[in-house]
Amino acid sequence: MEAPVLDATLPDRLARAVTLAGPISLAQYMAAANAHYYATRDPLGSDFTTAPEISQMFGELIGAWLADLWDRGGRPPAAYVELGPGRGTLAADALRVMAKAGLTPPVHFVETSPTLRTAQAARVPDATWHDDTTTLPDDAALLIIANEFFDALPIRQLVRGGDGWHERLVACQDTLFLPIAGKQVPGDILPPELRDAAPGSVIETSPASVAVMRDLAGRIARQGGAMLTIDYGYEGPAIGDTLQAMQRGRFVNPFEHPGEHDLTAHVDFATLAAAAITAGASTFGPVEQGALLIALGIDARAAALGERVMADRERLVSADQMGRLFKALAITAPGWPHPAGFP
Ligand code: SAH
Repeated sequence: MEAPVLDATLPDRLARAVTLAGPISLAQYMAAANAHYYATRDPLGSDFTTAPEISQMFGELIGAWLADLWDRGGRPPAAYVELGPGRGTLAADALRVMAKAGLTPPVHFVETSPTLRTAQAARVPDATWHDDTTTLPDDAALLIIANEFFDALPIRQLVRGGDGWHERLVACQDTLFLPIAGKQVPGDILPPELRDAAPGSVIETSPASVAVMRDLAGRIARQGGAMLTIDYGYEGPAIGDTLQAMQRGRFVNPFEHPGEHDLTAHVDFATLAAAAITAGASTFGPVEQGALLIALGIDARAAALGERVMADRERLVSADQMGRLFKALAITAPGWPHPAGFP
C-alpha cells in the first residue's frame, strides 16, 4: 500500500484521486478546493475583500438590526451565531453595538478553517467554534448572520446537451482538470420553465446550501430568533453558469490550480427562502444590500463617523489641545532631502 504523501499539494492529490476513481461531481470538486483554500490562508485583503472589511458601518448596522429585533421579540435568552465569520470583523462590530443595547449573547462561530479561526479568536476571544451547524445550541433563540457564506458552498451544475440535461462532472487528464458532461438526468427534475432551454444552457443548484438553510430555519422556527443572509445572487430558477474563481482580485480559470483560489457561485435566494418556509420559518425579501443599509441608517452613521474624524482632527491640531504644546523635530543625514512639513 502506498504511504500517504503528507506534503503533496491539493492539485496533485486530487488529480491522483480523480484519475484513479474517475470523474467527480462539480460539488465534490468545489468542496475539496475550497476546504484547502480556506484552511491554508486568510484570503481577505489579498484575493478579495468583503463588506465588513470595507467599513465598520456594515457590522454595526447589522448589530443594531439584530438588537432591535431581539428587543421587540421580548428579549429572550439568545445566542449570536455567525456562519463563515472570516476575520471576525463583522461579529466584533455587531457585538459592540448589541452590547450598548443590552444584548450580550454567547457567540458561536461555524468555521472550518483553522487559519481563520485563529484570526476570529483575536477579535472575539470568547467564541465557541463549530465545524457545522449540528452542534449549535438548542436552548436559546438564535441570532444568525451569514455574509458571503453561501456563495462558497458547493454547487451542482446541469448542462443542456443535444439530447437532454447532464450533470457536469470534473475529470482529470494528466494533471489538467476539465469539466465534462456526466450521465443524463431525467428532465422532470428540472423546473418546467427551464426544461427546454437551448443546448449549452447551465442550471445550478446547491444542495449543501439548502441543507444548511433548512436546518437553521427549522431551529429558528422551534427556538425563536432570526437570520440575515447577505450574498451576491439572484432569485431563481434561472439559466446561467456563475461558477467563478478569484485570485488577487482577478478572475481565473476555476479548473486550474484547485485550492489556490476561492471558488464561488451566485446564491439563489428564491431557493433558500423556499427551504426556510418549508422548515416553518417566515421570510422577508430578498431586498438589495444598498436599500437595506440605507433603511437601517447608514447615512446618519456615516455622518456621525465623519464628525468623529473631524473631532479627532481638532484634538490633534487645535492650539488649545495638542496642536501647540506638542512639537516635532526632524533630523536627517547630510545630503538627504528636505523633509515635508518643515519650512
Ligand atoms: N463572512 C466573512 C468571510 C467571507 S469568506 C466576511 O464577510 O468577511 C467565507 C467564509 O466562510 C470563510 O470564513 C470560510 O472559511 C468560511 N467557509 C467556507 N466554506 C465553509 C464551510 N463549508 N463550512 C464552514 N465555513 C466555511
